[in-house]
This record gives sequence, structure tokens and C-alpha cells, in this order.
Amino acid sequence: MPQLRQNFFTKEWVIIATERAKRPEELATRRPAQVVPAFLESCPFCPGNESKTPPEITRFPANSSDLWAVRVIPNKFAALSSDVQPTRSLQHSRRRVEGFGFHEVIIDTPDHSSCMALLPDVQVARILGVFKERYNLLSTDHRVNHVTIFKNHGVDAGASLQHPHCQLIATPVIPSQVRHRLHEALSHYDDAGECMFCHMVDREIEDQTRIVLKTDLFVAMEVFASATPFATHIFPLRHRASFGAISAAEITDLACVLRTVLAKLYVGLENPDLNFTIRSAPSDYSSARHFHWYLSVIPRLTRMAGFELGSGMFINTVLPEAAAEFLRNVHADKATGAVASTL
Ligand SMILES: [Zn+2]
Ligand SMILES: [Zn+2]
Repeated sequence: MPQLRQNFFTKEWVIIATERAKRPEELATRRPAQVVPAFLESCPFCPGNESKTPPEITRFPANSSDLWAVRVIPNKFAALSSDVQPTRSLQHSRRRVEGFGFHEVIIDTPDHSSCMALLPDVQVARILGVFKERYNLLSTDHRVNHVTIFKNHGVDAGASLQHPHCQLIATPVIPSQVRHRLHEALSHYDDAGECMFCHMVDREIEDQTRIVLKTDLFVAMEVFASATPFATHIFPLRHRASFGAISAAEITDLACVLRTVLAKLYVGLENPDLNFTIRSAPSDYSSARHFHWYLSVIPRLTRMAGFELGSGMFINTVLPEAAAEFLRNVHADKATGAVASTL
């Protein structure tokens, strides 16, 4: 029978439509294999084309004149600008803030043909290390209230350039979605005296049915009230509100967990378009006991239609428990191939 399930964090309802349930493997993209060159002359993110991007912000290894492993640049088509001040104005019902912010691109690898699912864990750890550095640096700017780090992989996930990269946008406001989650988490903390995320993670580990993989420091799981098929959350087992507090050991561990989850999706669903985003407390809440950072991976396997737009309620045709079982059984090591030889 169909079920309505409520998301523990957001209180949003989803319909798990078991009547039209799909087997997880039915969502594989069936995309014909594409030959992508390791270097593309016209790609501004490929090595040798550094002059085609705005001036570099930083690189890893820092200050190296040799080939970089990770590079950070301003987004050439930035959504926000750091050249203006976040002046606020309110006229009748119209509230505005000047378009202040930072919009950066993190180039994952010099290899044009690769993607994060195919990179060595050590390279994913370098990227996460760069995320931490940029996150913490931008969080100290008193004009910044929230930093979002995300990946768009594939056209349906919003990627306009194929070269593997992530992005960071720092905004002068706290997005209402983030504010809503913070309020729900605070209200649970006040009522129950515990972090709702720690509580949920403990129960999910006991239950096992939605767990994809677990290490000493992280757990990856399918979301109980998942709005879309294969929505996967990765939680640190140590309570921390802010991604900026991630330790060196956690970076190494998360690199392996994230890369494995991405590789399982890559193999099991044949390289689906996907987004991932780091959900972290805004900087002023970085030591909050009620919020817990996590990483959310959302494959783009379905499209939003009228019902979703009209109600904000999603219909998911894959049982999260079936998705978890499917992913547990996919061998991530089959995602071999274009690993950059220069790393
Ligand atoms: Zn490229
Ligand atoms: Zn917690």
C-alpha cells in the first residue's frame, strides 16, 4: 500500500507510491558510454588554460608552480559580487539586500574526463580539505551569514561545464530552508534535551534497513521520508554543528565514504546526474548543540511536476529500504577508469 512519510527534520510529507513502485535498477540511466578526452583545448578548467579563468584564489598544493591537484577560482558568471556591500532596504512589502556574496568554483582535478566517483580517495580528501579552508575563511567575514558548498554533476543537475568541479556560494542572508531546519532542530533540543540528528542517526544504525555503509566516523543512509529516489545522507558520528569543525581524520574517512557512495551510484545507476550539498549550521551557530552538519547526495532521476509545485509534497516511487539494499550490494570498485595519472 502507498504510504505517507514525514521527514523528521523538515516535517515535510512525502508519498511513497508503492503501487507504482519501481525496482531500483529500473532507474539506471541506460546512457550510452561516452568517450570524454582527458584534456579539452576549449575547456577553461583544463590545465594550461588557467589564463582563461578569472585570477586564481588558491590552489592545492598551495603556491605550487607545478601542475595543481585542486584549484579555486571566482565564478566567471558569479550570482553575487563581493564588490558591493550588503546594504538592506525595506520599502512597503519589498525587502532587498544589495547582491553581496562570494561565488567560487573548486576544480576537482586537472583531468577533464574524470568525475568524483572515479577519483582516488586521497584526491577527494584534498578537495574536502579545500572546502574546509574556504568555508572557514569566508565564514569569518562578518558580512557572510551562510556558506553553501555543492556539486552539480551532469546537465540535469545544473552543470554547464563538464570538467569536474564544485561550487561555493556565501550569502549575506540565511536561506529560509536553513532557518526552518535550525528552528525544528532547536525545538526538538528544547523538548527532548538532545540533538535530533544524533538521535535519528543512532536509531537508524540500530534499525539497519536504510544504512548503505558505516565507518568509525561516518554513516551513509537512505532518507526515511525521501522526497526523491536514492536521496542519501552522510552524517558524521561525532556531534558537530559546523562542517568547518571537521578534523583531519574525518576528512580522510569522509573522502572514502563520499567517494564510495558516488561510485555505488555511478555503477548501480550508470552515472546519473546528481547534486550534493553540505548542510552546515550558519557561522554564528557553529558550536550549537542542537544542529548537526551532514552531506546530502541527490541523484536527479525524476522531474518535479505540477503536484510537487502545487503542494511542495513529492511522490517517490522507490522505497528507501529497497534503495539502501540495492546500494549495499553494488560493488563500488567497479567504478574504475579515468583516474588521473598525474595525481
Ligand atoms: Zn576541462
Ligand atoms: Zn548531533
